Amino acid sequence: MNSKDNAVYDYFNRPLRDLRISVTDKCNFRCTYCMPAEIFGPDYPFLKKNQLLSYEEIERLTQIFVTSLGVQKIRITGGEPLMRKDLPHLIEKINKIEGVEDIAMTTNGSLLPKFASDLKSAGLKRVSISLDSLQDKVFGEINGRNVSVKTVLDGIDAADKAGLKVKINMVVKRGMNEHEIIPMAKYFRERGHILRFIEFMDVGNTNKWNLKDVYSKKEIIQNIHQVMPLEAIDPNYTGEVASRYRYSGSHEEIGVISSVSDAFCSTCNRARLSANGMLYTCLFASIGHDLREPIRSGASDDQLKDLVEKIWFNRKDRYSLDRSDSSKTRKKIEMSHIGG
Ligand code: SAM
Ligand code: SF4
Ligand code: SF4
Repeated sequence: MNSKDNAVYDYFNRPLRDLRISVTDKCNFRCTYCMPAEIFGPDYPFLKKNQLLSYEEIERLTQIFVTSLGVQKIRITGGEPLMRKDLPHLIEKINKIEGVEDIAMTTNGSLLPKFASDLKSAGLKRVSISLDSLQDKVFGEINGRNVSVKTVLDGIDAADKAGLKVKINMVVKRGMNEHEIIPMAKYFRERGHILRFIEFMDVGNTNKWNLKDVYSKKEIIQNIHQVMPLEAIDPNYTGEVASRYRYSGSHEEIGVISSVSDAFCSTCNRARLSANGMLYTCLFASIGHDLREPIRSGASDDQLKDLVEKIWFNRKDRYSLDRSDSSKTRKKIEMSHIGG
């Protein structure tokens, strides 16, 4: 059956189209804005193997989301997704599901030299690779593990060579790396990769988020425009989260994901599945809905479908539009659990 005919709509009439699957909460980096090393230390209680959804369980849920709930796009994320064993095997399973129009992955790139070619053969189409600076000193401090810029650039090369479509993600935080906006823009423009700037977000409760540290979309655009003039262009599709800009007189473009300064909740069509099988209907959610328990206690496909349909039907999330002082302090799920 065509998934387009099965769309489910939430309280604000937003369809469910995009499923982001986190396959692990572990990571080989400790980015200060995501998994600060002082909190995610050696004693941090990461999920144990039997707490993770197995690849068979992920495949089954994805099948239900795509065939019966209208999902068209899948993104694999983490933690660092390539830390999970045999990831190409999962991609292969998902790629076989009829109705999946797109499979992408978000990664820090460090393990792509090892896996890019297998991922491509398994059916992966696109990767978003995160890189926040071209200077080793700055990047090493941000990633918390002194990983070199070259490590990620090698990952980008490997993805290119394997034939994957590549975009680059750069989180911009005031006082951390705003001076790297222009060098990064020039570097990736020359190489023909779309660079997407992401405003520093208040996901989770551990990254010491403060509004004054948010380097806004407006500032990012002004900064680049002074050196390389930009013009706004239309979104590729409804619900695209990045605002797109083209360098005037060229085909090269950049994007800005402005979840703080210019929220896009009104078209948000994403659900997020954590590595332990909790479904979250917003990046800033406090509570998730357990899908692992019903799966493991024998729920049928129809029962699982009904459960998710009900959850989505009652969805009223629009955190970025309503962001308030009290919502900043309430307990929220960590980014490394749901993957951005
Ligand atoms: N480990 C992979 C990576 O870094 O690409 C995938 C998971 S990571 C959580 C997904 C994306 O979220 C990355 O591009 C990362 O830079 C971004 N991110 C993490 N914490 C963030 C924050 N507080 N604000 C904005 N973006 C954030
Ligand atoms: Fe790891 Fe990605 Fe989070 Fe950095 S942003 S700590 S690479 S999960
Ligand atoms: Fe979607 Fe929640 Fe982000 Fe709004 S705040 S765009 S509802 S994930």
